[in-house]
Amino acid sequence: MNKFFGKTVFPGISYGEIAVIKNIEGIIRRIPVYDPEIEIRRFLTALDMTKLHLENLYLRTVSEFGLKNAEIFDAQQMILNDCEFQVSIINIIREQSVNAEYAIAVTRANFTKIFADMDDEYIKERVADLTDLSKRLVRILQNVAEENRELPEKCVIVADDLAPSEIIRLNKKNVVAVILRYGSLNSHAAILARAMNIPVIINVPLPENITGQMIIVNSQAGYVILNPSEDEFKNARQLIAAGVKNSKKLREMHGLSSETKSGRKIRLAANIGGLNDLEAALENDAEAIGLFRSEFLYMEKNDYPTEDEQFQVYKQAAETMAGKEVVIRTLDIGADKQISYFDQTSEANPALGIRGIRFSLCRENIFRTQLRAIYRASAYGKINLLIPMIISLEEVKKVKKIIADIKNELTNEGKVFGTPLLGIMIETPAAVLIADELAKEAGFFSIGTNDLTQYTLAIDCQNTGLDIFYNPHHPAIFEMIKLTVKAAKRAGIRVSICGEMAANPDFTDKFAQIGVDELSVLPSLIFPLRKKIRELE
Ligand code: PEP
Ligand code: MG
Repeated sequence: MNKFFGKTVFPGISYGEIAVIKNIEGIIRRIPVYDPEIEIRRFLTALDMTKLHLENLYLRTVSEFGLKNAEIFDAQQMILNDCEFQVSIINIIREQSVNAEYAIAVTRANFTKIFADMDDEYIKERVADLTDLSKRLVRILQNVAEENRELPEKCVIVADDLAPSEIIRLNKKNVVAVILRYGSLNSHAAILARAMNIPVIINVPLPENITGQMIIVNSQAGYVILNPSEDEFKNARQLIAAGVKNSKKLREMHGLSSETKSGRKIRLAANIGGLNDLEAALENDAEAIGLFRSEFLYMEKNDYPTEDEQFQVYKQAAETMAGKEVVIRTLDIGADKQISYFDQTSEANPALGIRGIRFSLCRENIFRTQLRAIYRASAYGKINLLIPMIISLEEVKKVKKIIADIKNELTNEGKVFGTPLLGIMIETPAAVLIADELAKEAGFFSIGTNDLTQYTLAIDCQNTGLDIFYNPHHPAIFEMIKLTVKAAKRAGIRVSICGEMAANPDFTDKFAQIGVDELSVLPSLIFPLRKKIRELE
């Protein structure tokens, strides 16, 4: 049997050599273990091996780079030998019956918080050592090589799961398809994987040790074929040719208006994650950038992007779109979008934790840097701002106060800036229910149906087992959208939908009827949607 079935994340057909990816950055899954004592022994073996690694690294560094440079390995050795560190990991494994990797991740998060709260500068600096050490331990536990291999050309990625930051960092030019053994259809990783515009399929029970083998991915039909026969290859090539023909036909939509037969217009905008997506937005005739997920800028890097780095990116986006609107959403980090160097403490319920605007208001210096960059870039095109995860008027007022401050600062520094509108993301039930109030403070609304669905249905979009309950067609979601659109109309502001639901053709007619002004979708989904709109009465 060489055919394996899974769930489609992005439809398409492709084939190539398998490149297996094991935790580039370390996705840590919480896995229950049957016998905690065996798991503890596994941890202790890895601990001994890590000690040896560190000793070797220390000696090599001393001889090649001198004593000073070798100190970090000494510091890591100290943490490793710390009784509390070891006991914490062992206790978590024993008390919760979980895997060692997870126990290490929790211990690391707890220690990071303790270190960061200390007055002692030396201890504070040990956070980086703690991170490095924890990753080393996990790698040794999982027997993973330290180096990231270069991906072979035209490869099919196979992984257990990928975190959003890992998808962002993939060398995409070599990848023709992605297969995950686990994963959830509605996670941010899935949303990002769709943006790669190549076949993506999840929950495929592929065997281990398949690196270098050939595979066909037909995510359109929901299966993959491992080590295909000549006939199976021939069939795949025919299907690929038919797909190319179809997308050529869709290109006839370029330059046409997104308007129903009776003249109702819906602007079709693109969702992007960075400058690399601009080309696709223009090729697919996006009428605007409806959502620039700025957190990807942070995910691509190993450290906070500076104001100037961000300014250059936003400016280039505005200039490339040449007068068309670019909506930049401020950092939406947290929940399943984590960035290692942010060192957020672990939360029991991250989806309900410090994310979106909450993060920006808690870490105001990071927010200010970003706002300054966006404001400065707004002098070079039509940039508007969008704030994620709003639940109250107070948050909007706080944001406005910070913006007023920044405008003063920039004026005093003699820096030019434009007049961006302040848009509000409607992606929590609370925001929907106070939409009338929020509309008075907003330049426009953008409905984030991904989060709105998760929070309205109270379903964790990361949990694979819940995919069968996650129903984007649930009537409550459309009711939420209707309430929001009505509030926007009453206040005379524009309303857009930028979540995945925007691209669902089953809803296009309904959205047009209730007066949605804009649908913002992946660039590759603009032409099919325009075709759909033009067929409507
Ligand atoms: C949404 O929630 O629908 C949205 C567009 O934001 P995110 O980046 O969280 O998917
Ligand atoms: Mg969202």
